[in-house]
Parts: sequence; structure tokens; C-alpha cells
Amino acid sequence: MGIRLHFWGAAQTVTGSSHHLECAGRNILLDCGLYQGRRQEAQEINSHLALNAAQLSGQGPDALSAVVLSHAHIDHSGNLPSLAKQGYRGPVFATPATIDLCHPMLKDSAHIQEGDAEFMNRRRGKRRQIGAPEGAAPVEPLYTEDDAEQLLQQLRQLKLHEPTLLPGSSRDEGFGVSLTNAGHMLGSTCVLVEANERGQKTRLLFSGDVGRKNLPIIQDPDPAPQADYLIMESTYGNRLHQPIGPVKQKLAGLVRRVAARGGRIIVPAFAVERTQQMIMLLHQLIDEKLIPDIPMFVDSPLATSVTEVFRQHTEDWDSEIADFSRTTTDPFGWQRLKYTKTVQESKALNDLHVPFLVMAASGMCEAGRILHHLKNGIEDPKNLILITGYQAANTLGRKIVERQPEVNIFGEPMRVRAEVDSIGELSGHADQHELLSWMEPTVSTLKKVFLVHGEPLAQAALKEEIEKRYKLEVICPKRGDRFEIG
Ligand SMILES: [Zn+2]
Repeated sequence: MGIRLHFWGAAQTVTGSSHHLECAGRNILLDCGLYQGRRQEAQEINSHLALNAAQLSGQGPDALSAVVLSHAHIDHSGNLPSLAKQGYRGPVFATPATIDLCHPMLKDSAHIQEGDAEFMNRRRGKRRQIGAPEGAAPVEPLYTEDDAEQLLQQLRQLKLHEPTLLPGSSRDEGFGVSLTNAGHMLGSTCVLVEANERGQKTRLLFSGDVGRKNLPIIQDPDPAPQADYLIMESTYGNRLHQPIGPVKQKLAGLVRRVAARGGRIIVPAFAVERTQQMIMLLHQLIDEKLIPDIPMFVDSPLATSVTEVFRQHTEDWDSEIADFSRTTTDPFGWQRLKYTKTVQESKALNDLHVPFLVMAASGMCEAGRILHHLKNGIEDPKNLILITGYQAANTLGRKIVERQPEVNIFGEPMRVRAEVDSIGELSGHADQHELLSWMEPTVSTLKKVFLVHGEPLAQAALKEEIEKRYKLEVICPKRGDRFEIG
């Protein structure tokens, strides 16, 4: 009876969000995120989906009937093209902003997957040339741009606060969903699932990623709707953030200091949200004459496309950016801000000998143009590497933020001599207090809480607090764990 819950990703880790739900013979997926980590392990995990080929291709009684995507971040959306590759042709529901963000993001992700496979095959080829034994078969990309294109055709709009029956379901059997604003990034949602089996209703709330009040650009999270069960993220389950208020002053101080000593500010920034928040804050600081008007660059084709989506989706803006947009022609642009397009323009920055700021993806320094800027700037103590977001275990970004004395970039050991600082205040994830207060409106109806999307220490701390404060049972499922609820 009720819902059969199958945890398939972001289980005791922060990456690869994906949960499979089954009720009355209907199967749906919440998110289908890319697992990011060590190459081999990631490839292994990402190529194995929660559902088998027959379920994906729509044959048989237990076929996958819908996917609901909480938001566009790659750790929630980035394995969707694998669904298409393995035969899924059904709908993927998401908000209009999430859909528009998925277009550049999934194409970019496919491009990275193809480039990665090509690199591995070239490396194997070189090894064979110097007499190394024949290796295994050529590396296949996880998915291609064609798979991403196919999946993008399957995206369907779902607006906030509009309860919707999923395909193949009726009022008495199967699933309905309704989305609330998660306040985590543009278009982000929490998903309230209503499952019916022979008229018996079970409400399951999936938090997606829970945001925070007062973040630049986006609106505050809605209060949690009432549910019987909760699947909640726990990224910062053991931490408290600095208040968001002073972040502008801190950023101003850093820019002034590095510009005065003639250094570069290298900002690994997630192409989505963090880059746009930084652009808007820097724009306001320049207008207010609180920082020198040094050249600034957004060196990421993805961030450039994503910024255009931010410009368009004014319905998701908060009042601060709406007000700011009335005082300026473009909140995301000014004279000395340049969105670089070509690789040549990007490389030309290496020869720029004046203070400047460059933002590039990826945010955890795993790929993309940021690697070139780090390679060229990490050994110069005049420079600043400004970390702006969460750095998962085993990523280059984590090694830098932990100030390891030496790191590998493109296979070469490099000394970390640049200053390293971080702005955690802009985090899009609620901290421990914020998670506890976000869930409070639904505590009285909850029977059980499942914590996902967190590393074990963060989960343990949050579990303890929820048990103590709300007297609820809390489970931290492992990948592959199954539960029956309702
Ligand atoms: Zn997210």
C-alpha cells in the first residue's frame, strides 16, 4: 500500500539526485541528476539508472510514466539525457525557467561528456603508440548532444502551485504533483507528490534543494506545504551560514585589496545563479563607487547563455533586482564587463597585465575555462582565488579551499601560492537553522523524514536536531535502499 520509495542518488552524498517512486503500478522519477566525483566511479553510477530498459522504453505495466525535475542544477538534471539514450520518450515536468535553463545546461553537459570520452581515447591511443598493451574498448560518452536534444523535446511546463495529475494516473490511482518555490535558484521548486492507491492518499514532500531568504535576484522560499513524509536535502545540515547582509561589503573589500596590489581575482563560479548574483552585486558596487572600475570578464559561454535566461524570466525576480533594473539598462551588464566568446578571447586574458576579475565555470574547478585561469594564476601570491560555492569531496575546488599546498591541474603539480578566500554567504542552500525552520509548517503532519543530498557528517548532525526538536523518525538512506510508506 502507499508509495514504494527507491533511493537511487544523492544518498549519503550531495550529488546525483534521483528518487524512484512507485504507486498503484505507476512509476515516476523525481530528478535525474549527474553523479559528479571520481571519473570511473561517476561513469559507473551514471550509466546505471534506477529503472530497467523495458521500464524506460515504455513497455510493460511498470513503465516510467513521468519525471518531475525540481530544478536545473546538473546534479539534479544532468543525467536526464541518459534516460533518453536508454529509450525513455515520456514527459519531464519542470517550471518554465527550469526548462529554459536546461537547454544550454544539458547541451553543455553533453559537450563535456563527449569531450571527456574523446580525451580518454586520445590518451589511450598515445599509450599504444609507445608500446603499452592494448587497452579495453574505446570509451563511450555517457551521452551525446543528440541524446540531450532528444530529452529537451520531452520537457513540459508545470507552473507553481497548480496541482497536476501525472500521465497514466487518475484521481484514485497513481500520482498528482504540485510545485512550490524552493528559493534556491531561478525556477527551483519543492515537489509535493500526492499518491493514491485504491482511494488511499499519501502525501510526500520532496524538498529539492531548499534555498534561503534574502538571496540576490530570486524570491524567498515558500513555506513547506503539509505532507505525511518528507525527503529533505541536508547539504549544510551541520553548518550555519554567515548572514547574507554584509556580503557586498566583504566583496568590495576583497576587490579593492587585490586591485591595489595589482593582482587578478579568479572566481570559479557556477554558471547558473552564482555568476548572475556576482554580476549584479559587482554592478551595484561599481555604480555605488565602492570598488574601482577594473575590467571584468564572464569567461563561460554557458554562463553567458544562462544570463540571458535570467534576463528573460523577470517573473521570478525579487523586488531588489526589479528596483535595480529601473535604474539601469541591464542589471547584468555594464561598459567594462565583457562576456568572452571565443577561446582566443579567453586565452588573451593570460597576457593582460592590469588588475582584473574573471569568473568562469565550473564552480568546483572540475572542467571548463576556469582550469586555464587557475593554471596561469594559482602560483602568483598577488592573485586571489575567490571560492563562491559548495565544493564537493574529491574536487579540485575542495583541495583549493582546504588550502592544500600543491594541486594537480591538467596533470601538472602546481603550488597554491595565490590567496584563497571564500564567500559562503551567497550559498543557495539553507543551513541547519534554515532547514529546520523551513520544515516546521509540516512537522505536525509528518510521520517520517528521509535525509538525502548531504555527506554523512552533515546528515548525522541534522538527524539529531530533527529528532530532538521535532521528535520525528529520521532515516538517511543509502543508494539502492527501498522503503514502503503510507
Ligand atoms: Zn541545486
